[in-house]
Amino acid sequence: MILVTGGAGYIGSHCVLSLLENKQEVVVFDNLSTGFQETIDELKKIGNLKFIKGDLSKKEDLNSLFENYKIDSVFHFAAFSQVKESVLNPQKYYSNNVSGTINLLEAMIKNNVKKIVFSSTAAIYGEVQYVPIDEKHIQKPMNPYGKTKLMIENILDDYDNAYGVKSVRLRYFNVVGADIKKRIGERHNPETHLIPNVLKSTFNDARPFEIYGNDYNTKDGTCIRDYINIEDLIDAHLKALKYLENGGKTDFFNLGNAQGYSVKEVFEICKKVTEKDIQFNINKRREGDPEKLVADNKKAKEILNWNPKRNLEYGIKAAYEWEKKLQGGLKNA
Ligand code: UDP
Repeated sequence: MILVTGGAGYIGSHCVLSLLENKQEVVVFDNLSTGFQETIDELKKIGNLKFIKGDLSKKEDLNSLFENYKIDSVFHFAAFSQVKESVLNPQKYYSNNVSGTINLLEAMIKNNVKKIVFSSTAAIYGEVQYVPIDEKHIQKPMNPYGKTKLMIENILDDYDNAYGVKSVRLRYFNVVGADIKKRIGERHNPETHLIPNVLKSTFNDARPFEIYGNDYNTKDGTCIRDYINIEDLIDAHLKALKYLENGGKTDFFNLGNAQGYSVKEVFEICKKVTEKDIQFNINKRREGDPEKLVADNKKAKEILNWNPKRNLEYGIKAAYEWEKKLQGGLKNA
């Protein structure tokens, strides 16, 4: 059985969906602090899914999880992930993300579970020295969120040396898209991300979309990001697990498309997809936003045999279909 922590959240739930479609048995462990019960309900319709509402801070929750299910490997998504909140409340981030992971690893070792795929981030690189960013880029995260993810990567190295826990750390760039059949999708409260915010602004009584800064040193003055499709991202997770199952060594990989889009370019694709004349305001820069983030993804292509296939327009279309569903019914859920 495969354990997915954080399986009620955006990326975790898409991983669960894919595992279930591949006929795997899955147990999700999630405290529903940022994930949604409706997501779990939807996933239960697809395959053999068990759900445990539990918290990584409670060792007794983890102990009973490992006692009750025969777990072979772990996908670890459960974490807080808002940069701004992590600056204001670092205690919440170090406690949940770092201590929570240590508790999870303790339970894994106790139960002889030695394979983990960990959800890391491009935020571990910090101030960008060059693009495209490869895995050797200096790692100096600029906020507590990025620091927690880098700490966990370091912990995972030490736990391999000492206890033989093999890990793959996947460093995400910007993730876009939703299940093409609209069963699940991106849902945050509050929503801070670019694409859902542009899409939300097209619905009635929504606030106009704000561009955070148009005075960056880029082609049109707005920030450049690398958007990786959620389906491609999840393909990499399944390949990462296969890699570990085949005896692969502990390693880490960037997951991005190796292609940069400016905020204005994203905005234009959203206009095309929605067929709406979306309005925007130019606001001041958002603190801590790097000018340009683009992945060098060669390592994942070579070693995991991964090949991202979906373009940004495809991802935005799926995200728009999902957003329509959210606005239509799930809005006040
Ligand atoms: N952004 C924006 N308006 C928004 C949300 C985001 O202009 O309402 C910009 C943000 O400044 C950044 C890019 O869009 O340059 C991507 O931001 P997002 O929060 O989606 O992801 P991040 O790159 O911060 O992880």
